[in-house]
Formats: sequence, C-alpha cells, structure tokens
Amino acid sequence: MAASISRTLLTGAVALGLLSSPAVAAKSKKAPPASAAQPLPLEATAAALRDRAMSGDNLALDFTRELTTRFGPRPAGSPNEQAAAAWAAERLKALGFENVQVQDFPVTGWRRGEERAELITAQGIRQPLVAVALGHSPATPPEGVEAEVVLFDSLEALAAAPDGSLAGKIAMVDRRMVRMQDGSGYGPISRIRALGPSVAAKKGAAAFLLRQAGTDNHRMGHTGTTRYVDGKVQIPCFAVTVPDADQIERLKALGGPVRVKLFSSASYVTGTHSQNVIAEIRGREKPDEVVLLGAHLDSWDQGTGAIDDGTGDAIIMAAAKLIKDLPQRPRRTIRIVFYGSEEPSQPNPPGGAFGGNAYLQAHKDQVGLHVAAGESDFGADRIYSVNLPKGAQGTDFAKAIERVLAPAKVLVTGNAAGEGGTDIGPTVEAGAPVFELNQDGSRYFDLHHTPDDTFDKIDPEQLSQNVAVWAAFVWMVADSDVDFRAMAAANPTPPTGRRRD
Ligand SMILES: [Zn+2]
Repeated sequence: MAASISRTLLTGAVALGLLSSPAVAAKSKKAPPASAAQPLPLEATAAALRDRAMSGDNLALDFTRELTTRFGPRPAGSPNEQAAAAWAAERLKALGFENVQVQDFPVTGWRRGEERAELITAQGIRQPLVAVALGHSPATPPEGVEAEVVLFDSLEALAAAPDGSLAGKIAMVDRRMVRMQDGSGYGPISRIRALGPSVAAKKGAAAFLLRQAGTDNHRMGHTGTTRYVDGKVQIPCFAVTVPDADQIERLKALGGPVRVKLFSSASYVTGTHSQNVIAEIRGREKPDEVVLLGAHLDSWDQGTGAIDDGTGDAIIMAAAKLIKDLPQRPRRTIRIVFYGSEEPSQPNPPGGAFGGNAYLQAHKDQVGLHVAAGESDFGADRIYSVNLPKGAQGTDFAKAIERVLAPAKVLVTGNAAGEGGTDIGPTVEAGAPVFELNQDGSRYFDLHHTPDDTFDKIDPEQLSQNVAVWAAFVWMVADSDVDFRAMAAANPTPPTGRRRD
C-alpha cells in the first residue's frame, strides 16, 4: 500500500516538475510531460505540493526572518506597521502575485511608553513587581496609582461586588490559565482581560490587575487587548506574571493589606492609519470565486511578532506561491490578505477599526463569491487536524482531504469549523464557509504577546509542515468544484469546532 502510494505520488510530482533531484529527474523521462491544456490531477498535485513543502520551505522562513528583522514590532497604526505593509506589497509583486493592493483604514494607535510596578507588603517592605500594561490602558497619573489589592478568583466574583465597593482599591482577577494543545485555555482568561477593567471601574477600582494569560512561569509580561466601553478603557490595567501573581497570593495569605504601586505613561495616537495588504492568484476558470487566506501583519509591541503573526503571513503566502508555480493556475482565485490592526484592534467589534472589518466593508458585494476562508494565526507549530466547513463532514471531498493530509500526520475531524479566526471573522459571519487547520498550541501561550515572541522560536520543520498542509488543502479547494454552501444546506448540523482566537 505504502509503496503504491509513494509510486503514484512520485509520478505525479515528477509530471508536475515539482521535484528536481538528479535521481528523480532521470525517472522523469518516462513520465508524460504536463500539458497546460489538460487539467492537473487534483489529488496527485495536492500530494506533490505537500511533499515539496515538507522537504523544507525556505520562502516562509526567509519571509518571517526579513519581516521581523527589518521592522521589529509592528503595533497597529505605527510607522513600523505601515512600512512593513509597503514592503510586503512590493515583495508580493516581486513574487508574481496579481492585483496587489494596500487598503488603508483609520485607527487610533496606542503606545506603551514607560511602566513600573512595585509590591508593598503589610509590613511596608517594597519589592519589584513584574507587570505590563494591557493594550489601550490609559496612563496612570504622573505620581502613579498606589492602593491595596483585592483578589477575586473569577470575573463573576468581581462582578458580584457591590458598585462603589472597590473605591480606592486595585481589583485583581487571579485565575490560572490551563495549557491545552488546542489553545482552549486562552478563551476564559482573555475574556477576563477584555471585560475585567470595565467591571472593576464600575465597582470604583482605581486600577485592574490580571494574572496574565500565559502558560509559562517566567517573569515576562503577556500583554493583550482589553475592551473599550463607552469609547474608552476606563482605568489603568496591567497583566501580572505568574510568579508575581503567586507572590501576591502568598503575601495575602500571610495576612494584612498588600499594596501595589503602578505607573504607566501610555498614550494614544489619533489620526493614524493601518492597512490590509491584499494579493491574488487569479483563477483560470472561475476567477470571481475566491478562496480567502488570512493572517495579520501587525503585532504586539514587546517582541517582533514572529509567531504572532509573522509566520501566519509567511505560511499562507508560501503555500499560495507553491500553487502559483504550478504549470497551470487553479480554477478559482486564491486571495491572501495580510490584515492590519489586529493587535491591538480598537474599539472591539462590532464595527471596530480593525483589518477584518475594513476588508468586509470593501468586499461586501463579493461575500457570496467567497467559496472558503481560513486563517493562520496560531504560531508555527505543526498542524494536527482539520475542521472542514459545516456539512462537509464525511463527504467524498473530506475523504480526499484525508488521503492527501494523512502522510503529513493531519487528522480530518468530524467537527465543523467554528469561527476560523479574528481577521476573517467578519467575512465568515457574513456567510463565507470557513475551514480550520488546527495547530499544536501546547507552547504557543508560553510566548504569545511577550517580549520573547521572536524569530529564533520558530521550528523550521514545523513551519514547513504548515506550508505543506495549507498548499495541499487550498489547492484541493481552489482547483475543484467543491461547494461548501450546498453541503451545509444538504447535511444536518454537525458538531461545531472550537473557537480560535
Ligand atoms: Zn495573532
């Protein structure tokens, strides 16, 4: 079985000119030449794309290296983000992508400035505290905020405190994040991060602290967005590292009030803009039908946005480029979008100033032509499963995907894809069928939104596996007639996949 599969795939790969070692080149004399007039074999081509990328994809690694080195951190609306977008557009043109455009939209930027934190024990002993401001936190007064910390074990417990009861106090929600392969431990903590500051403000708190959304035990801050309420974030809000949160807990257990002093000179930049970078490979038969691939080009300010989300851009771009290099275009158009203003995007949806909304506004009348949409925004570790769009479970298409992806150790699940991701979210909500290529997130939240999100953390072999799976999968959708909308209408509601954000 294995021998026959590999022989078939090898023949397919040779015919497509995808393999070029001397040994393979010698064999290729026996294979018929690929003809542009004849359609390429769907599955054999997908398998050849997969094998080509698995043998080592330098384009994705090179792209991420150059992006993170030239521009470093790329916060929404910053000159770094704007320059990175201009560079990426030129790079896409040079690689031969078509209809490359940069779509500007206005945003309010946020700059961290300087920040300090200190812990003061009941006996007045002062200790350094490692804490970082959350995105769009207002500055503290110049003298800082110093107050007693009140601990809550959940957002609900904080919400249950009487209004005004935390006047002159700092509220802290102290909930531990659970390490999960699918990253599902993040949702409950990011929800506290998003809503906690406004709930604490309602109770009268002077500031908000979060045991940070991270799975490491290093003294390195995981920042992240918090939500605007009534057009602003009401009080200064910080993430506290795990060892520092533990220290606060232990001091509280010893008895007596524990105080924290916070300082931040964060500021807002009004009148700036972010942008989406859009590029295509036009389809040969149905150019109006679009397979949408998304990732975000902006990043948090502390690291260089390598795994969040430089590699996402690199993965979708390198996968599309492999397809572009085939002797024949796919039947449908492949569109890649490097979204802007995902980190931090504000105000939060609905209607927020972030790339996902800007894209939908500009393509509103095309939503029905989006035949599938997927997003890569979960680092660069390997893909282990696929959630197909609703209704596609168990179909011939699902079986074909299974055959193509099994050698890359990817499972096709019986679950329908959920929301797909933040950037494609508005387009998916508007009706585009969504797929999810699920990555191993076991170590993602050790690095996510920290100063340690840097290029050296990328595992090149796993990055290549991502490119391989994307290339094979996207080819199967773009060069076939698969109609996920019809499948959704024909099949009863299957279980829905997890939320990925
Ligand atoms: Zn991201």
